[in-house]
Amino acid sequence: MSKHVAAIIAIGQAIITNKEYLTELDREIGDADHGINMAKGFEAVIHKLSGLDEDKDVGFVLKTVAMTLISSVGGAAGPLYGTAILRAAVPAAGKFELDAMTVQAMWEAAITGIKERGKASRGEKTMLDALEPALEAFSVGIRDGKRLLDCLNLASMAAQNGVEYTKTIVATKGRASYLGERSLGHQDPGATSSFIMIKALLDFFR
Ligand code: ADP
Ligand code: MG
Ligand code: MG
Repeated sequence: MSKHVAAIIAIGQAIITNKEYLTELDREIGDADHGINMAKGFEAVIHKLSGLDEDKDVGFVLKTVAMTLISSVGGAAGPLYGTAILRAAVPAAGKFELDAMTVQAMWEAAITGIKERGKASRGEKTMLDALEPALEAFSVGIRDGKRLLDCLNLASMAAQNGVEYTKTIVATKGRASYLGERSLGHQDPGATSSFIMIKALLDFFR
């Protein structure tokens, strides 16, 4: 199995491990299915990738992951993550190894995709509140000439802080926005799944 396929499987396993946790978070401010949705999607992804030829580049693998998520996950997060990964596949086309600059370009493309699809921005209590500060921290790491793994560590810490931040703000997008002020004090499930994925990637490579 190629290294990039193994990395995605590690991400999938982290999501599946946290299925109950993510679902419980979504019970508080949503419809109690975020972990179920994400685990279902990544079970399909793991199944799909295990039948994939060894010689596929990162872009091809990510495209496969994105299409599988879009077709197997209902709800808001599946198509949003699917779009993100589909966009991230573009700078990774034809590559078998990723350098920090390419990862930065992929991350930027992913966030642009989520924003275009979901019409949300930072501060609305969504996955963007983890993903955007994480990218910023990652970019600061690159600017300072840090190694890819150290940049990823900075990103993971920023994503975790972003998850904490979602407790302090009111949801204005997605299902949680129906609760208005009552969404305060609760942690966003999508920001949490984003953090879990970044952390899983870090743990895989270190
Ligand atoms: P649903 O709300 O349809 O049941 P999920 O429970 O799987 O879907 O996902 C909910 C998560 O999706 C939220 O916690 C939030 O992070 C994210 N989300 C919802 N709407 C948006 C949006 N417009 N932009 C970005 N993220 C969003
Ligand atoms: Mg839900
Ligand atoms: Mg739902």
